Amino acid sequence: MKSRFAPSPTGFLHIGGARTALFAWLWAKKNESNFVLRIEDTDKERSTQASVDAILEGLDWLGLDYDEGPFYQSDRFDRYNEVINELVSKGQAYYCDCSKERLESMRESQIANKEKPKYDGCCRKKSLKNGVIRFLNPDEGHVSFHDYVKGEVSISNSELDDLIILRSDGTPTYNLTVVVDDHDMQIDCVIRGDDHINNTPKQINLYEAMGWNVPKFAHVPMILGSDGSRLSKRHGALNLLSYRDEGFLPDALLNYLVRLGWSNGDQEIFSIEEMIKLFELKNINNSPASFNQEKLEWMNQSYIKTISLGKLTEHLNWHLDRLNINLDNGPEINQLIEFLRERSKSLVDLAQSCIMFYKDFEAFDEAQANKTFKAGSKEVLQDLVSQLSKVNDWNSNNIHSVIELICEERNIGFGKVGQPFRLALSGDGKAGSIDKSAQFVGKERTLSRLEMAIDWINSQHN
Ligand code: GLU
Repeated sequence: MKSRFAPSPTGFLHIGGARTALFAWLWAKKNESNFVLRIEDTDKERSTQASVDAILEGLDWLGLDYDEGPFYQSDRFDRYNEVINELVSKGQAYYCDCSKERLESMRESQIANKEKPKYDGCCRKKSLKNGVIRFLNPDEGHVSFHDYVKGEVSISNSELDDLIILRSDGTPTYNLTVVVDDHDMQIDCVIRGDDHINNTPKQINLYEAMGWNVPKFAHVPMILGSDGSRLSKRHGALNLLSYRDEGFLPDALLNYLVRLGWSNGDQEIFSIEEMIKLFELKNINNSPASFNQEKLEWMNQSYIKTISLGKLTEHLNWHLDRLNINLDNGPEINQLIEFLRERSKSLVDLAQSCIMFYKDFEAFDEAQANKTFKAGSKEVLQDLVSQLSKVNDWNSNNIHSVIELICEERNIGFGKVGQPFRLALSGDGKAGSIDKSAQFVGKERTLSRLEMAIDWINSQHN
């Protein structure tokens, strides 16, 4: 058995598309079937290589691996022509040379008469040899199918047009190519956005004209923005890869997307294995779901806290590389991540918190330094240098004891030591627990940063 994802490479991979891909992938995994990737690039004007690359990169990032493909429709024009010729020779398709003007005025008068605009079949019997090619849609009867999400769908053939299957420039149209491919690629279940549901009856007539089996269908509702309108740019990022760039874990995004439109009781958190085990097309909601950025962020943060260290580092490394962080130049990364992950909101946030442990900074944040490095802090920083240089076993407990000792000796609160120490260590004051941070920064670097802070105070007060 097989399912497929069939994006058109005419823009970036949208998160709605990613969710469709996820549902088709889950169906394939659940049924121990193959997942096919097909790039629908027959529209040469609008298809771009950059968009193909974004689809491949996006699926790879999500971990939605395909067993077959990517197939490109642009490689299959001969096959489409073969099918179109067969339909013509069987009398199930015909050439039409109606002018644009004729079609336009027909349309206008149909609209004026409150009729559904539709080709009138004028060229059906003309046996022409050029023009566009139209499919001869049956006049009588109904097309009915069972949709896993929408239930029973039925439409009268009298409502359906003789659709164009070959344009005048010789290119086949979507409804024809999708049927040929889903047949040739032996797709059992077509899972796609419900913006295509009106195409399905036309496609079923094409399958039947060719004497082919009709696959099963599941039309997935759209994703809406938080205000109930169709999800668009003004609701935030739509491009799947911008979620990677903003520091989301693919597992968190997949979990969020699967819940958007599908449910298993009240359960919120699903590992990929659980999704595969529990996924059923019939549990996809029949009404559109609203995208909620805060919930996605919450999901991401909870995944950052709990996901296996192996998976976390795999995705964090991409962000560390982006920040040019050289892991040889600081503490063992896994231990550092265990320390930082608790308070990280995203992978970007986590990667940024790593910087101070691997890179030295040139200067302190000016505003912070003016506020924190008062003349009185100099003695405290000097105490830290002299006491900490005596610490042989460099760990957070010993560092903590040093801070406590200085507080006691000088009879000052923890903040009076902690604040200048934190700024000296981090350069911008953004660091978690000070003793742990100092442990990970390392003894030598800690001492040299404290000296740098003392120099800064000297330079201000000379
Ligand atoms: N290429 C179509 C699209 O991107 C999808 C076609 C289908 O899934 O049948 O909207």
